Amino acid sequence: MTERIQCIREGCTNTILPATAAKTGGYCMPCKQEMEREERQRYIEANRRDVNLYAGIIDPVEILKIMHEPQVRDPLIRYVPYEQSKEQVYLSLSVEQQDQMKDYAMQRIRTGDEDTGKDILVYLVCCHDISLTAEIPELLEQEIYYPSILYKSASGEARNHLLQQVNTDDEKRNHILLMLAHISDDVVVQQFRQWRQSPPSWTSELYVAPEHYTTEAGWELTKDGQRRELFITPSYSLYKVKENEGASVESFGDSFSLLTPSANCCPWCGSALTTLISLDVKHPALNDVSWHAQQLQIQTCVICSSYGVVYMEMDAAGEPLWSSHNVMHVGMNEIDLDDYGKLAQDAGRQFQIATSSRHAFHASEWAMEPSLSQVGGHPGWVQDAEYPTCPSCSTRMKAVAQLDWGEIEEYGEGMYYMFLCEPCQMTAVSYQQS
Ligand SMILES: [Zn+2]
Ligand SMILES: [Zn+2]
Ligand SMILES: [Zn+2]
Repeated sequence: MTERIQCIREGCTNTILPATAAKTGGYCMPCKQEMEREERQRYIEANRRDVNLYAGIIDPVEILKIMHEPQVRDPLIRYVPYEQSKEQVYLSLSVEQQDQMKDYAMQRIRTGDEDTGKDILVYLVCCHDISLTAEIPELLEQEIYYPSILYKSASGEARNHLLQQVNTDDEKRNHILLMLAHISDDVVVQQFRQWRQSPPSWTSELYVAPEHYTTEAGWELTKDGQRRELFITPSYSLYKVKENEGASVESFGDSFSLLTPSANCCPWCGSALTTLISLDVKHPALNDVSWHAQQLQIQTCVICSSYGVVYMEMDAAGEPLWSSHNVMHVGMNEIDLDDYGKLAQDAGRQFQIATSSRHAFHASEWAMEPSLSQVGGHPGWVQDAEYPTCPSCSTRMKAVAQLDWGEIEEYGEGMYYMFLCEPCQMTAVSYQQS
């Protein structure tokens, strides 16, 4: 039997055959491989260069084209990120530049790069609410059926075409209903009303009745068949102040705060309740909200509302109160509080409310990673649209705000959605994650 010898690398206890030692210079294979990896890493670090694709470019259109270009992965290249996010560059576009990007997107679609083309169009629609009326016939010709938000500005002709197609196209019906929900002009509203009165034969092939599709576009048919918006406008971004900037004195005074711990505890899990947002009802974001108190306070148990909807009522003084309508969610009695981090006391102080509003659908396409936290605006649903029903009056509650938890806690994820019912002065909080 051949005697095994010790690997010569310091700290290694492996033994190897003399034949291996002869090949590797006395190292075991794991050590040999590790040393080669380290050698490669040293080489990369010594030879890696920074590449700034944006150097000398000032035209935002050109900057965005580069941003949308997939980068070749090369360990010897470190790409210098642009100083602004894609979203920020999109927001900076002039009307003329928006048109240039729109043309560029259509060109990408024509040359077979549908994904990039659609991404660009979605950014333009969300950030600037641009019209695609002239482009929609071509999008349809290219058989592009989603994201349905692209169809918001369809002409009457395109809408009629879709109203016919929805009856015959079993495969695309789902998408077409979402497109129609986004078009949502009088003719579409009337069609949904008619479908409710006499469901079409294809209804049985859907998971939900046709009228439920409207909630994906932020509206519903009321009991008497009217269109009712399910979110408030305008939209104000809730953004994180960069660490070196500190809190600005321009903030909306004491009448805005986020994530304030409450003295009251959750009757289910015992942890302190959190006022997710408190905002002066005179703030322009709440222009269309009728609220009896001076502050709109949306309080919840951050832990329990991640399992299901948690409702709060307002007491006579306008202070939030745990609602007697709350029904404990399945699995809640097994919550282990140790599994949950405690929210930092100053978590909310890093946030500000924007001084000017943005388009209502700005944050609606969650997957595009816009700045999602907001007061007002169409929700950015991580999953399907889900507006809670007011337990007191049974109508759908209106979305008023959302918080992107990934921005709030280091390992946080998912989104908290806030709703209210004005007649009942009730709030609700729900949660979705991918
Ligand atoms: Zn070794
Ligand atoms: Zn709780
Ligand atoms: Zn109600």
